Amino acid sequence: MELIKEDSFFDYLNESFVDSVRLRISKGCNNSCTFCSIPDEEGREVSFTPIPQLEDLLSLLWEQGVRHLEFVDDNFLQYVESVSRLLITLDRRGQQFAFSFSSPVKLILKNQKHLISLRQQGLRCVNLKVINSNQDVLYRYGMKMTAADQHYAIQILQALRCQIQPEYILFEPLTTIDHLHNDLVFLEKNKLLGITPFTDILTSCLDLEKETPIGFEYRSRKLYLPSSDPYIPYQIMDERAQTIYHWLAYFSQEFGPQWKEIEQLLLDLRITVANQKSNWIVTNMGQELMYIIYDLRLAPYDLFKALLSCADEGDLDSITTESINFQSNQRLQWVKDQYWSYRKYYRI
Ligand code: SF4
Repeated sequence: MELIKEDSFFDYLNESFVDSVRLRISKGCNNSCTFCSIPDEEGREVSFTPIPQLEDLLSLLWEQGVRHLEFVDDNFLQYVESVSRLLITLDRRGQQFAFSFSSPVKLILKNQKHLISLRQQGLRCVNLKVINSNQDVLYRYGMKMTAADQHYAIQILQALRCQIQPEYILFEPLTTIDHLHNDLVFLEKNKLLGITPFTDILTSCLDLEKETPIGFEYRSRKLYLPSSDPYIPYQIMDERAQTIYHWLAYFSQEFGPQWKEIEQLLLDLRITVANQKSNWIVTNMGQELMYIIYDLRLAPYDLFKALLSCADEGDLDSITTESINFQSNQRLQWVKDQYWSYRKYYRI
């Protein structure tokens, strides 16, 4: 068992930030994702922390003020019945944790019957291993799932009003413009645009530094070539896809801190509004605020769409640092103006 990181979690049901820890309660994995080193490093047999040991730890964490647990094990659902019984026991003692877990798509489909009760027990968010929408990419990554599986798993979680944090790998050396188009359509169709903080999906890339099967393969095929571009970790064979990656990574690094600052202001405002008004989310006041938050979150995706259009029109060379800076500053200023107008109008 491993405590990975202490953090805070925005509990959207209670409209508050709560103390949270990330923890790993298993070792090993019997899947064969080629971008992962866990099966080789820890073995294919999955073992879980014994329940009494986990119970002691969770009780201690509760005493220390932790109210949200994030289980990072992809095999969490294989152990779900035992953990679920433990959470019920803790709840009866007045220790009601909110929690999130990670899962491959297939395990969500296989364990549908548990999800409703998990939701009632405090499930808030699933870090779903969507990874990519293109079948050739999924095949290279050794992932046995189809777009229909991904769509169905997302629908199940959305129907339960459970937050989804998609784990994605958008870029790798063999990414093409067609792949990126498919990914954009997939994300739009499944209503995943703008639901993760900042550019988590849009700057995601295959980690080729790790000792993984795909890392070995790409190195031996000379597909892993270091890049002289300070914003991206390696070269992408398709030059247009590489240019898009450059601008998204540029946006993330140059505008990320400002973007996160505004998002924090908006979340704090959301908490204030929610504390003042019950059912705030269905009021005009609530809807207007959510619109501003959503608009901020969509900014990187609008940039992604604009870059793809430029690529289609053969116009990517016309994009300059100045044009990206101008548009990004304009967008962020627009959100800031909306924030201040909102506060002025509602006198908050
Ligand atoms: S990515 Fe997750 S599911 Fe795939 S092999 Fe690694 S631990 Fe297992």
